[in-house]
Amino acid sequence: MKPTHVQADTARLLADEIAGKFPDARGRFGPYGGRYVPETLIPALDRLEAGIKQYLYSAAFQQEMTQELATWVGRPTALSYARHLSASWGAEVWLKREDLAHTGAHKINNSLGQALLAKRLGAKRVIAETGAGQHGVATAAACARIGLPCIVYMGAVDMERQAPNVGRMKLLGAEVVAVTGGDKTLRAAIDEALRDWVADPTDTYYLLGSALGPHPYPLLVRELQAVIGREARAQMLTQAGGLPNAVFACVGGGSNAIGTFVPFVADESVEIVGVEAGGTSSALGRNAATLVYGRPGVLQGTYSLLLQDDDGQIQETESVSAGLDYPGVGPEHALLMLAGRARYESATDAEALAALAECSRQEGILPAIESAHAFVGAKRWARENPGKRVLITLSGRGDKDMSTLQRTLLGSGAAGASR
Ligand SMILES: *Cc1c(COP(=O)(O)O)cnc(C)c1O
Repeated sequence: MKPTHVQADTARLLADEIAGKFPDARGRFGPYGGRYVPETLIPALDRLEAGIKQYLYSAAFQQEMTQELATWVGRPTALSYARHLSASWGAEVWLKREDLAHTGAHKINNSLGQALLAKRLGAKRVIAETGAGQHGVATAAACARIGLPCIVYMGAVDMERQAPNVGRMKLLGAEVVAVTGGDKTLRAAIDEALRDWVADPTDTYYLLGSALGPHPYPLLVRELQAVIGREARAQMLTQAGGLPNAVFACVGGGSNAIGTFVPFVADESVEIVGVEAGGTSSALGRNAATLVYGRPGVLQGTYSLLLQDDDGQIQETESVSAGLDYPGVGPEHALLMLAGRARYESATDAEALAALAECSRQEGILPAIESAHAFVGAKRWARENPGKRVLITLSGRGDKDMSTLQRTLLGSGAAGASR
């Protein structure tokens, strides 16, 4: 079965999204999402779906999760007023500090939640895929904490590029398996993890790293990351004295963004904006801005927007931020865009690096290059909306990006020139 054309009653889609009706019983977000997987995976996905219904919202699970988030992850993460950015942008700028979460980014919210679920489901081992290594590190840490063996599939090319994260995963007790087939990067690693899962879907738990893949993963990851938006919304009300006029987050697979956005979807006054990796240009293959430039299609189990050519061939992507460098995106973002509730734009490599330098210098916070993309969008918005209030999810810290920053900002001597 192959979906052909997206036609939609956007008013109804929007009403259903606001009412929290997605995904539907078939795992669809309007026309997007679903399950495009081999027959052999359906029972495993059904079991996971049943496990989510049974455990995720139970008092015992929620209590354990809340306890671990508070005492091990370090939640709630701070909401910081960005004093100097506010002054220079002419708007009120607030930062949701996922960089302060354990292992340095929002990814731990998802890894911890799924590892707890895996244990409840009786899994004997956890497998995961990783691109830049950040999801692998978060999953290795969560598995160590919960006491489950962890195997991480990683493209051979990525292992070379991200050697420090390979070391971190090993120290945290994970086995890192080099994937030498396909493109030797994230896409090949996901394929390999799926193959492993098919071989032993009862004893193995597949811990997927973003709000994508076949149903029920986009739902599960959204629910685990929504803690970002829930905390931020409550913190805005108490610390800022009201809701933001706009919310910004960077979008790779879309997990930190969907977790930020969903608790604000029903707040009509709040503009919702995702910022994708614009790479070096708008040409096909020179960016990873899936929602901005993509077209509908199926990739790795879900129907969403994709970067593909006229023949439907998935395109190589390019971005200075490894975490945004993927040709697909979570299906709920495709729906939010279709329904007109969220808008998506892109920021180029150069713009993101400049924003990283600006935030570091002015606020004393070195953001991940991924997160810096959100700042680019927020700054544009602030210029057009003087005096208004904007919330930015700062998805992770930039220490992991030092080798890239040495080659770029520091190499060209531009870091100090932005005040
Ligand atoms: C992985 C990562 C991202 C991109 O992933 P999403 O699923 O889109 O959130 C963004 N920021 C940081 C810091 C990351 O590590």
